[in-house]
Amino acid sequence: MSLPPSPIVPTIPLDADGKHHGHLRLPYSRNDSAWGSIMIPITVVKNGDGPTALLTGGNHGDEYEGPIALQALAHELAPEEITGRVIIAPFMNHPAVMAGTRVSPLDGVNLNRAFPGKPDGSVTQKIADYFIRTLVPMADIVLDFHSGGKTLDFVPFAAAHVLDDPEHQARCVAAMEAFNAPYAMTLREIDAVGMFDTAVEDLGKTFISTEIYGGGTASARSARIARKGARNVLKHAGILAGALETGPSTAIDTTAAGCFHFAETTGMMEPLVDLGEMVEEGAPLLNIWPTTLTGKAPLTVPANRSGLLAGRHFPGLVQMGDCLAVIASIVAD
Ligand code: CA
Repeated sequence: MSLPPSPIVPTIPLDADGKHHGHLRLPYSRNDSAWGSIMIPITVVKNGDGPTALLTGGNHGDEYEGPIALQALAHELAPEEITGRVIIAPFMNHPAVMAGTRVSPLDGVNLNRAFPGKPDGSVTQKIADYFIRTLVPMADIVLDFHSGGKTLDFVPFAAAHVLDDPEHQARCVAAMEAFNAPYAMTLREIDAVGMFDTAVEDLGKTFISTEIYGGGTASARSARIARKGARNVLKHAGILAGALETGPSTAIDTTAAGCFHFAETTGMMEPLVDLGEMVEEGAPLLNIWPTTLTGKAPLTVPANRSGLLAGRHFPGLVQMGDCLAVIASIVAD
C-alpha cells in the first residue's frame, strides 16, 4: 500500500544552484485562518555536484543552540564556498519553536517520537513524514541539533549511536568526531522508537546528533560550540573547504547499564555533583527534599555507577519519574 503524497510544498527549489531562502508550506485550516498554512523556514545552498548535508534544529521547540548555529549558517554561507548542497532547517517543528515548548502546541505530539510520521496524520506527523520521505533521501549526511531544553542540562557533546552495521557506525562516529564538541558520546537510546535518529539511520545515512547544555536558553559558550560544529561537519563531508577547527574532546559513552537515574518521589532537588564532575558508584548524587513540610530528611539518590555526570534534571522541582541524572563512562584511548 503506497502512502499518499505529502501535503507540504517547498516555496523554493531544492535542487537549484545558488542560495534560496523560503519555507516548507503545510496547509493548516483552523478557526483563525480557514485556508492558512504553517510556514517552516528553510534555506538551500547549492553549488554544482557533490554531497548533500541536511542540517536540522528545532526538532524540539525549547532548544536554542542548533537554531542559532543554523540561522547563522543560512545567513552567512555563500554558494561559492561549497561543493554540493546544504539544506538548512533551523526550526523543524516550527509551531513548537514559536511556543517555546518541546512538543507541538497544535497536536501535543513530540516530533522526535513521531517518525516515520504520516502524510495524512496530525500536523507534527505530517512534518515528520516530509522530512523522512523527501529531505532525508536527498542527504548523504544528517546533523540534528539538540540541547537539553527546559527540563534537562548536559555537558556539551556530539553523539553517534551504536549500530548493527560496523561500517555505518564508523561513518557516524567519524562525523561525530569531526563536529569536535568538548565531549564525543557513543550512545544507545532509552526510547529509540519514533526518533528522527532511528528513521535516518534506517535509511543508511550518516547521522549525528548533539546535546549542548540546556535549560531552555543558550550561552555564549554553547552557541560557539554549535556554530563551530556545524561548519566542521560540512568540512568533514567535503562540502565546505578548509581545515577542521579542533580542540580537546573527551570520548564518553552511555552504553552500560545504570547510566540513567529516575525520580522515585517528588520534591526539590539539591545537586551534590555538578555536570562534568566525576562520581563513584554508591556516592550521593543528589538530595530530593520534601516541599510540603519541614524536619524530614531528604531522599538521597546514589550513583548507580561510577563515571562522569553528563546530564541532569534542570528545574529545581522534581516530579515522580523525571530523569534526574545521566552518568557516562569516559572511554579510554
Ligand atoms: Ca531534544
